[in-house]
Amino acid sequence: MFFTADGINRITFLRSDPIFQEKLLQFQYSKTIVFLKGRALAVKDNPKSLYLPYLTDVSNILAKYREVFTTSPENITPFDNQFSLVFLGLSTEYSQDDHVFRYNDYMGVPVFGIDIRQDDYVIPQSTTVLESMAQAFTLSKFHASIYSYAQMYLKWQLKYKFCPGCGSRMYLLDLGTKVHCSSSSKENMCPVKNANVDNIWFPRTDPIIITSITNMDGSKFLIGRNKRARKTEQEGGFRLFSTVAGFMEPGESVEQACVREAWEETGVRASSENVVLVSSQPWPYPANLMIGCITKVEFNGVNENVYLGHDPELEEAIWFDTQLLIDALVRCGENTSNLISLTDDIKFPGDRTIAFTLLKEIASRYVKPKL
Ligand SMILES: [Zn+2]
Repeated sequence: MFFTADGINRITFLRSDPIFQEKLLQFQYSKTIVFLKGRALAVKDNPKSLYLPYLTDVSNILAKYREVFTTSPENITPFDNQFSLVFLGLSTEYSQDDHVFRYNDYMGVPVFGIDIRQDDYVIPQSTTVLESMAQAFTLSKFHASIYSYAQMYLKWQLKYKFCPGCGSRMYLLDLGTKVHCSSSSKENMCPVKNANVDNIWFPRTDPIIITSITNMDGSKFLIGRNKRARKTEQEGGFRLFSTVAGFMEPGESVEQACVREAWEETGVRASSENVVLVSSQPWPYPANLMIGCITKVEFNGVNENVYLGHDPELEEAIWFDTQLLIDALVRCGENTSNLISLTDDIKFPGDRTIAFTLLKEIASRYVKPKL
C-alpha cells in the first residue's frame, strides 16, 4: 500500500531518553526531509526521490536545533517562528556509503523532517518543490512513506502552538513528537497541563472509513461519483467514480461508520455484522488514517435502493456487475498507477489509493458461479 512502506524504525520508546537525544543531536550524518513552508523538496532529475541532505547542511538556523528539543518552556521562539523539526526514526534502508548511527542494540541512519519558514531560504538548484498530491504520487514507495510521516508531524507542530486548555504557548518535547503547555500560572491553573492521561499533547490522526460496497455473493458492487471531482472530470472528459468514505464520528465503531456512510451517501442499508476490515492507509492530507473495509448489502428489494437525498455529497451512485471490474483490471494488467477505465466514460482511482485496493479486493473475492 502506498504511504505504508517499511524502512523506518521509529524507536518511539527512545524519544524521551536524554542520553539518546544527546548522542543523536551530536551525530553529523542524520538525513533530513526538507519542507519549505509546508511543501517538500524533491530531486529535480529524479521524480522518485526526495531531497535528503544531512541535517547539519540544511541551513545555519540549525545551529539552534538543539534548543528546539530541549525540554523547557524557554525555547519556544525557534520552534514557533523559523522552522519545525521532528525526529522520524532510524532508516533501515541505507547503503554501504551511508554513515550509520548506533545506540545500544539499535542502528540505522537517523532521519529528521524539517519545515523551513524563512523567506530568505534559497532552494538548492538540484531540487524542485512538490506542489501537488500528484507529484507526491511519483515518489518511490519508501520516499512517499517518509514524506507522509514527516508532513503529518510538521503540519501538526505548525497548527498546535497554543494549549487548548489555557491558551498558553506550547513547547516541543521528545524530539518534536510531543508538545507541552508552558503555563506556570498558579492563579489560572491550566486544566490539562498535568492531566495523567490526555490526548492533546500528541499529533492527531483522524480516522476515516473508506468502504467498497457489494452484495452478499459479490456479483455486484456500488460506487459513487463525488461532486468534488467535477474539476478533474471536466479536465479529463470522463466521470470519476470511487468508494464511499467519511470521517468517523466520536463513539462509533469502524463497522458502524461504514454502515452510516453507506446509508447517508448512497441510501443503501447494511448492518455492522456485514462489514469486514481489509486494510488501512495513512493519508497525509492533512493527517488521516484511512480504514478500508468491504460493506455487504443484503438485497431484499429495499436495502439496495440508491437514494442520494440524505447527504448531498454524491452526484451519482450506481451498482455495476463485478465482472466489469474484473475485466477492467485484466485490461490494465500491471499498469495501475493512474486512473483506470471501468467503461468508455467511467474511471476509478489507481493503485496509490486504498480505494483501488478495496475495489480490487471485491474483484478478487468474487467467485463466479458455475453454470
Ligand atoms: Zn495549558
